[in-house]
Amino acid sequence: MAKADASKLDWNNLGFEYMDLPYRYTAHWKDGEWQDGGLTEESTLHISEASPVLHYGQSAFEGMKAYRTPDNHIQLFRPDQNAARFKRSCERLLMPVFPEDKFVDAVKQVAKANADFVPPYGNGGTLYIRPLIIGTGGVIGVHQAPEYIFTIFAMSVGNYFKGGLTPVNFTTSAYDRAAHKGTGQAKVGGNYAASLLPAENAHENGFADCVYLDPVEHKYIEEVGSANFFGITKDGVFKTPKSPSILPSVTKYSLLWLAENRLGLGASEEKIDVNDLDQFAEAGACGTAAVISPLGGLEHNGKLHVFHSETEVGPVTKKLYDTLTGIQFGTVEAPEGWVQRVE
Ligand SMILES: *Cc1c(COP(=O)(O)O)cnc(C)c1O
Repeated sequence: MAKADASKLDWNNLGFEYMDLPYRYTAHWKDGEWQDGGLTEESTLHISEASPVLHYGQSAFEGMKAYRTPDNHIQLFRPDQNAARFKRSCERLLMPVFPEDKFVDAVKQVAKANADFVPPYGNGGTLYIRPLIIGTGGVIGVHQAPEYIFTIFAMSVGNYFKGGLTPVNFTTSAYDRAAHKGTGQAKVGGNYAASLLPAENAHENGFADCVYLDPVEHKYIEEVGSANFFGITKDGVFKTPKSPSILPSVTKYSLLWLAENRLGLGASEEKIDVNDLDQFAEAGACGTAAVISPLGGLEHNGKLHVFHSETEVGPVTKKLYDTLTGIQFGTVEAPEGWVQRVE
């Protein structure tokens, strides 16, 4: 695959596709410790055929973005939160922890080295950054890998919604994404292979993706595809589900805080019964990639429940989106410590 060329990119028509950018950060764990890491131009990994990541899915990842501000700086949004979550994911799969301060520093090095690929301010484009750790080395028994590769690559991505926030419809799945005390809280590879079939089934039936219900009672909302759910109740409370099998979204916790502290709404994490959707005036899915996808309708047991509208974003959802993206791009004042400048 050819190296990406920033001068040939059409900033107005970026999608969400892998690009082989000039630089990535790579560090190796060997002999019980992290070897010196650094930037490299090598985008192909060479690993043993017996690597535990290939057979047993010993891997974890993160997803974050670098943003270009109107005054042409590059900044990150709460990278400390991704570093902390990555640490928890690694601990859950018995992988060595890459120190959190070094994680943030390495992310900054990658953003800076690929600065030409951070889209200009103005149409929502960003540099998507993907930290990843995999268990390598030649072992075939089911135990932790003797070696690991930690790498961070990046790619230029466009605004998810080209023509403004457009609601999409979802359907509940009969499958589970993660077990009650399984790995749902960790951003680990295996969770996503298991979500491919349920997502495909949802697509075949004309839905954007599926909503997962809790794995114990199949009654409470967990995740919306690979994004977190939130609803705005008719009496002005930002509600989001509480469960040990949900992946704690940085976007979700940021919206929860902004709802309470900037929009003056109530805010609550609690169980949300899929049969109690009438309480909501608006609903959405949130995560780094799309920021917010407004939920038009949710089909459950053959019946479509429409929230605000199937065609128009609701006013509170829009306000949350504008506030959060304003902070990310540096046009709205950020809460203390939420943005870190790269250059
Ligand atoms: C990454 C992810 C999210 C979103 O998390 P953010 O930190 O907001 O990007 C939500 N659900 C799942 C399953 C995820 O993997």
